[in-house]
Amino acid sequence: MRRCLSLLLTCWIASPFCAYGWWETGHQTVARIAAAHLTPAARTRVARILDVPDTPEAVSDALAKASTWADETKNETKTGEWHYIDLTLQDHKSDIPARCKDDNCAPARIRLFAAQLKNRPDDAKWSQLDALRFLVHFVGDIHQPMHAISDADLGGNCERLDPPVDTAKNLHALWDGGIIVAMDVDDKGLAASLEQQVETFDSARQAGLTQGDADDWTWESHELALHDVYDKLHVPVEPPIFPANCGEAPLAITSFKPQIDALYVDTMKPVVREQLIKGGLRLARMLNEAL
Ligand SMILES: [Zn+2]
Repeated sequence: MRRCLSLLLTCWIASPFCAYGWWETGHQTVARIAAAHLTPAARTRVARILDVPDTPEAVSDALAKASTWADETKNETKTGEWHYIDLTLQDHKSDIPARCKDDNCAPARIRLFAAQLKNRPDDAKWSQLDALRFLVHFVGDIHQPMHAISDADLGGNCERLDPPVDTAKNLHALWDGGIIVAMDVDDKGLAASLEQQVETFDSARQAGLTQGDADDWTWESHELALHDVYDKLHVPVEPPIFPANCGEAPLAITSFKPQIDALYVDTMKPVVREQLIKGGLRLARMLNEAL
């Protein structure tokens, strides 16, 4: 939310997608991959929570629909900070807790909502339905590399793309959706294509991909952003500061013009595909363990 506000009202008017990590297609794709890898018992529980028939198609459609609820409601629920974590270019993995005050960041919320789904406490602030919808969304968000980094630029929101890449007007939006839009496929088609890719992995690779916890996955995303975005595009390295909006960001950032060509977008497509696969398989593992 804070990130979108930083782009002022024009962002809301010109680009209704600006608030969405992975926009809709990415989140729905992660959800569909996860749905396809649920155990029968977990699928039954998910179907019950989402109040849909316990069939693969119904659960896949319902989980995909549920995956964007956290973005659609974040203004009224005041949970915008839960969608990302601002790890600076100078940070180490051990800095994650310090960058996550009062559990207001994506990896902490993944942990907390997974625990709620598993333990079903009577006094939970959020319903089991809400916990599921948050978890599905935040696992997707932390696999979007720009949700795990900040270079005094609100996760890449302050570097404008001129010209825009499809509908993406800044670096963050390019990774949220621009690269996926360039794939020209809907969430069902993308999930099916990624599923074919997963089937080429041997079981050791599949199991390896799902290992780790939310902090591990966050750090993996962070390193990916460092390498494939900040290094590759030669974004100026700024000190660890956290401007409230892009108007307060350093001039070196707001005046920087990333050079995004078709080769860069094409080179990043497999990176995005792998992040979506990881998000889906890891979400399935969490749900299978919790439900
Ligand atoms: Zn989000």
